[in-house]
Amino acid sequence: MQIRRLRLSGFKSFVEPATLTIEPGLTGVVGPNGCGKSNLLEAIRWVMGENSPRSMRSGGMEDVIFAGTASRPPRDFAEVSLQAEADDGSDFEVMRRIERGAGSAYRVNGKDVRAKDVALTFADAATGAHSPALVSQGKIAQVIAAKPAERRMMLEEAAGIAGLHVRRRDAESKLRQTEANLARLEDLMAGLD
Ligand code: ATP
Repeated sequence: MQIRRLRLSGFKSFVEPATLTIEPGLTGVVGPNGCGKSNLLEAIRWVMGENSPRSMRSGGMEDVIFAGTASRPPRDFAEVSLQAEADDGSDFEVMRRIERGAGSAYRVNGKDVRAKDVALTFADAATGAHSPALVSQGKIAQVIAAKPAERRMMLEEAAGIAGLHVRRRDAESKLRQTEANLARLEDLMAGLD
């Protein structure tokens, strides 16, 4: 998947509608401290369905809406749309909008969809809000400073096998339940002898 264009309106510091066209090749974003570079990466994560306010450096999800400044009133909504080219050459556009008090709504190619459909759209393109390809500031230092067990978790996430732990826990719990059932059955059978 190649991201072609990102549009933001009312998202964090991007109060005015802004469009960024991303050309093939390497793209760099430069600017003084606090001008909104990290907010751009967060906008990409957010439109892909990020639901953790913490990874948006926010207390609550509505905090992504422009909060106003001394000279500008706050906004009531934030909107981000991402246009991308899939590996088969087809174009698609995903849009997410959040309104104060009304939560988030998503659209794919102009049609209302559920958050789950957006997650699937990006999973099919082998990416998403938690893709290891999206490296936030401080993440590298976190990897270096991590304890071995934490580093292993990051590597497992990158390898796409983190979900196996959940399945293993489920299987172990089923096994314990079956063992308990068998023991009970043996007791009952012993009672019949
Ligand atoms: P640095 O180079 O220091 O990492 P940066 O260019 O990555 O900075 P960001 O961290 O993306 O900058 O942007 C921070 C700016 O975004 C701050 O000025 C902050 O006030 C502003 N900002 C964040 N959330 C909102 C919001 N909801 N409403 C208005 N402004 C916001």
